Formats: sequence, C-alpha cells, structure tokens
Amino acid sequence: MPVPIVPYSTALVACTPTIGARRQLVCSGCRNLLLYAPGATSVCCSVCNVVTSVPPSGAQMAQLICGGCHTQLMYVRSANSVQCPCCHTVNLALEENQVAHVNCGNCCMLLMYRRGGRSVKCAVCNFVTSVGV
Ligand SMILES: [Zn+2]
Ligand SMILES: [Zn+2]
Ligand SMILES: [Zn+2]
Repeated sequence: MPVPIVPYSTALVACTPTIGARRQLVCSGCRNLLLYAPGATSVCCSVCNVVTSVPPSGAQMAQLICGGCHTQLMYVRSANSVQCPCCHTVNLALEENQVAHVNCGNCCMLLMYRRGGRSVKCAVCNFVTSVGV
C-alpha cells in the first residue's frame, strides 16, 4: 500500500512541545492541560485541535470559578474580565477579597460583582440587581 505524502505545514511547529523547560496552559476548547515551549504564541491541542493563544510572557495566571456554570477558569491576572468558554458568562476577574456574590433578582443566577458596587447586571437576563445597603 503506498504511503500518502503529507504536505509540509509550518503550523505544526507550535504543536510540538520541545523537551526542556515546559510551560502549561489550559486548552480553551476541552480544558485539557497543554504543554508548550517557551516563546510559542499559540498551542494546538492534540485532543480537540483548538488553538489556544499563549498569554504574554511574564503574565501571571489566576483562576476563578465561573458564576454561570461553576467551571474553573484560568485568566491572565491583569485582565478585568474573563468569558467562560462553556456558558459564555462574563466573569469579573478580581482578587478573591474584592468579589462578592448576589443572586439575580430576576432569574436567580449567581452573579459576581466588585465589592462596594451598588448594582450588578445579570449576564443572562440583563436584569439589574441592586446590592449593598
Ligand atoms: Zn483541547
Ligand atoms: Zn460558565
Ligand atoms: Zn438574571
């Protein structure tokens, strides 16, 4: 049986992790932990083939729990918000002690808001819920 000739593709370079100093990244498609070489700008997931862009070097990653579906999300610490790839809820990316929770007054979804804020707009139904005293 003849061996099919596979055309050379430069896109495959980013998919091959080099041995040595490896970094980790959570796939934006299937949430697998991916390894990538320092200097790579994007990583191609071998499981779901989704290309996840690598955050700028030196960026600190932080984690938060999605207010919509409770999936753990990773984001660059300097980001103000992070959108959940599962339910598309936009979560405020704040330090733990800056965040408070309230249930939407209309649809009862758990919402996150910046502590000290007076109202929070629901990402699902756009209802504005008053918070605080
Ligand atoms: Zn994946
Ligand atoms: Zn979610
Ligand atoms: Zn709502």
